[in-house]
Amino acid sequence: MRKEVCSMKKGTLFVISGPSGCGKGTVLKEVLKNPDLYFSVSATTRDPRPGEVDGVNYRFMTNEAFEALIEQDGFLEYAGYCDHYYGSPKQPVEEQLAMGKSVILEIEVEGAMKVRAARPDAVFVFILPPSMTELENRLRGRGTEAEEVVQKRVAQAKREIGFAEKYDYVVINDDLSAAIADVNAILCAESHKTKKN
Ligand code: 5GP
Repeated sequence: MRKEVCSMKKGTLFVISGPSGCGKGTVLKEVLKNPDLYFSVSATTRDPRPGEVDGVNYRFMTNEAFEALIEQDGFLEYAGYCDHYYGSPKQPVEEQLAMGKSVILEIEVEGAMKVRAARPDAVFVFILPPSMTELENRLRGRGTEAEEVVQKRVAQAKREIGFAEKYDYVVINDDLSAAIADVNAILCAESHKTKKN
């Protein structure tokens, strides 16, 4: 019987972006059920949301600890987003790729463009919400952020959507199962590719 998830043939670095509220977390949760994929746990200086676990969702850090890691060249990329630092620790990503695992970075656009410059072999996927109205509804409906933060994230989302065309693939998340299937198909095809364009 055909396996439901693709088995990755080689270690590829995947970068997934999309504005806050586009549903990329939900899509990724499903995609990451594939045991061939390693999720790079980012570091951040923002506070944990209810239910978030240090070391699982993020490594929650102070500004000082984050800046010390920048000094030590410990990040593959990092960026400022809505008044906080976010970054992908370099060492675990490089270790996993060296072992032939495929790695997923779930990061915003500025950091993604830094990865684009440093790792031209990486594959870039952008997830779009069905509309801005839907995105605002999702952000407010989540109920985890104050209205001022929601407003900042909506403004940021409008800027980020302008970057979609710089990505290799764009997936519209208007139907969750279809979006999951699309991302899985992209990851699977890319990991079977013989050469990059
Ligand atoms: P949130 O606070 O909603 O978890 O994340 C805010 C934004 O930061 C999201 O767009 C998310 O993709 C991005 N982000 C998470 N981790 C990283 C990272 O390591 N580097 C960069 N550049 N962005 C990140």
